[in-house]
Amino acid sequence: MRRTGLVALILGLSLGCCTFGCSPRYDLEVVRARAEEMVTRILEALYNTDARGEPSTLADIAAEYEDLADPALARYVGKQRDRETDPRARKRLDYLFFDLVGTIVYEKVAPLSDEIANLEATSVVRVGGEDVAYRDLGIRLFNETESALRESLYMAQGRFDAARTNPLRAEVVRLEREELREYGYPDLSVVEAERRHLDFGAFDDQLTGLLDDTREMYWDLSNEASERVFGVAVTELRDYDRGRLFRGPEFDRHFPPERMRPLMEQTLAGMGIDLAALPAVSIDDEDRPEKEPRAASYAVKPGKDVRILMKPLGGVADYETLFHEMGHALNDAFVTVPEYEFQRLGDYGTTETYAFVLEGLLSNPVFLEKNGLISDPAVRKAFLRQQLFDDLAGVRYYAALFGYELLLHRGGLADEELVSAYREHMERARLVPLEHPEFGYMSSNEDFYGVNYLEAWFLAAQLRGVLRERFGVEWWTSPEAGEFMKGLWALGAELSPAELAQKIGCERIDPAAYVEELQAAYAAYR
Ligand SMILES: [Zn+2]
Repeated sequence: MRRTGLVALILGLSLGCCTFGCSPRYDLEVVRARAEEMVTRILEALYNTDARGEPSTLADIAAEYEDLADPALARYVGKQRDRETDPRARKRLDYLFFDLVGTIVYEKVAPLSDEIANLEATSVVRVGGEDVAYRDLGIRLFNETESALRESLYMAQGRFDAARTNPLRAEVVRLEREELREYGYPDLSVVEAERRHLDFGAFDDQLTGLLDDTREMYWDLSNEASERVFGVAVTELRDYDRGRLFRGPEFDRHFPPERMRPLMEQTLAGMGIDLAALPAVSIDDEDRPEKEPRAASYAVKPGKDVRILMKPLGGVADYETLFHEMGHALNDAFVTVPEYEFQRLGDYGTTETYAFVLEGLLSNPVFLEKNGLISDPAVRKAFLRQQLFDDLAGVRYYAALFGYELLLHRGGLADEELVSAYREHMERARLVPLEHPEFGYMSSNEDFYGVNYLEAWFLAAQLRGVLRERFGVEWWTSPEAGEFMKGLWALGAELSPAELAQKIGCERIDPAAYVEELQAAYAAYR
């Protein structure tokens, strides 16, 4: 993911349909400079909390920029946008407008966001007679080989979420909705659809199609993995054991920690990018208990100071994380478009696409073979099948989560109804019962950030197709491919995912290329 200045990941709402009173005049250059300064400070603060467990200070920072959380200012920018005839200037105002309105909502929820972040960064839970940092639970669970201990870790994490943070998260969702309704918007889904110029109803239909099209494949792969790891059908598994299906520890030895960074450097060198000569990008992959486990790239100053933060888990997962975050970091490091809006704001599906293109190399048989990562062809096939299962689980999860988030944000459902809706949606993705939906029904909410991933999965497959066509199957060894990518990265987020699709010669974002890749892999790695 790419960390955003707005914790709730809300980037805005349209006030275009509101009736305007008399708006004061604003100096937009001052507004842009203030907004840029605030984002920089928020990213630094987020980084300090995520990297070192420092107390979250988002609410304090937000309070210093109260002038930006001004509904009259947002309305003014919205009006300027509606009047603007130059498409690029209009787009810039559109990005700024959504950002400002997001800031208004963000200010509302910042104290709660701080509270959640602080609880997670500082809490320690008792597991089997041992104190474990909350932020270490997930990694411990992922790597624990004893089933009984896994159960304890899983229950400790779930109970913590259910008792401590879920009520706060529910309050965030409620406050967001309340604020949005002040502006005549029913809920966040309407706002996000408008901001992204994406028809959420049609998108949901596409995702339902994807779940149907990949159902059989996923069912087979789930059972295969379950039989291989536990010797039982997937229906026999307990939830705390499921993580083991995706772990694939037998492949770890092919991905030693010390090979990870040299491989990254060598890959980029093939594309004509010398990481050593790119001081803008720094990587922190040290293991510290207070570190946020979810990796992210922090563009503190685009083009100048971009920080990758990751907590090592072991195995190929770390390689994938580094490649993914590097995709974001290169987008931010090579940005040349000068406007704050195009550097910072816009639709994150674009940067996620670049992240997935690099991450996808770890599922590319030619890349693995040429880099001598798994020399035995039979082991390589088994590994690629595991990778396919992993990818499929991810895309199916986010496809189902999207449907659930539509219900969650719409509001009007009681807690128990939300829990059962969450169960129903998750079971549509995983195809087996979910034992404790009350753990995840709030903590899984990402305020539609998953839309970025979903669009990026589809668009990355299309972009890979273009890279292969233009620069050959080993496009990552071509400096021309590097130049081509730098040309795209230079634009920052000026292009929306749909515009990026057109820029590379595709009519629109289409899940078909991605589903074809999955099906080809399923047929090839038997
Ligand atoms: Zn990402």
